[in-house]
Amino acid sequence: MNTLNQIIVLLFCLVFLNLSYAQNGKDQARNPIVVIDPGHGGKDAGATTRNGIKEKDIVLGIASKIVVLNNKLVENPLLLYLTRYTDTLISLGDRTELTKRLKADIFISIHCNQAINRTASGTEVFIHPKSEVQAEESTYLGFTIQKGLADILGIKNRGIKFGNFQVLRDSDSSATILLELGFLSQTDEAIYLSQEDSQNAVALVILQSIIKFLGL
Ligand SMILES: [Zn+2]
Repeated sequence: MNTLNQIIVLLFCLVFLNLSYAQNGKDQARNPIVVIDPGHGGKDAGATTRNGIKEKDIVLGIASKIVVLNNKLVENPLLLYLTRYTDTLISLGDRTELTKRLKADIFISIHCNQAINRTASGTEVFIHPKSEVQAEESTYLGFTIQKGLADILGIKNRGIKFGNFQVLRDSDSSATILLELGFLSQTDEAIYLSQEDSQNAVALVILQSIIKFLGL
């Protein structure tokens, strides 16, 4: 190899090393990526309250409010993405595909519950961990959100459970949960979750809990 070639190779190595160093630095410093998945959408309404308010609209309302609050209130906002921003039906595969593509740190699928027993109430978190790390992180994230909703808003905490849901099975995010915000079959919770003000309060507690979970 002549001197000119050696210099070119050396320059190439320097540029490459510098680029990969910059890339690593950027990765380490990047804001956490959070994907929120408002369940259902389009022709899939999910659960419905007795006066016809649909789960798909409630969860989209709350998810959209988390985005607004994140941009308004948080100094270094989370990089927050929704799987849907409108009333459209997205396949379960596409919901987790977005998470995988973004290499999201957190994936939260948001739903509302319903039961034949009309007195059933409170939040439930489902996890289906692929690894010990995912089990630990997901449990802690679920615990933090449920504790916030119970302590600040007085929503009953029904605990964390295992659930064999596709969005949980497919997500690679280290913290992956499906959050059931309350029962649309229970009159008080149905009214509460349908109101704009309470949706804002729930959104704020979820956002604060994510920030707390991340230690920011
Ligand atoms: Zn649902």
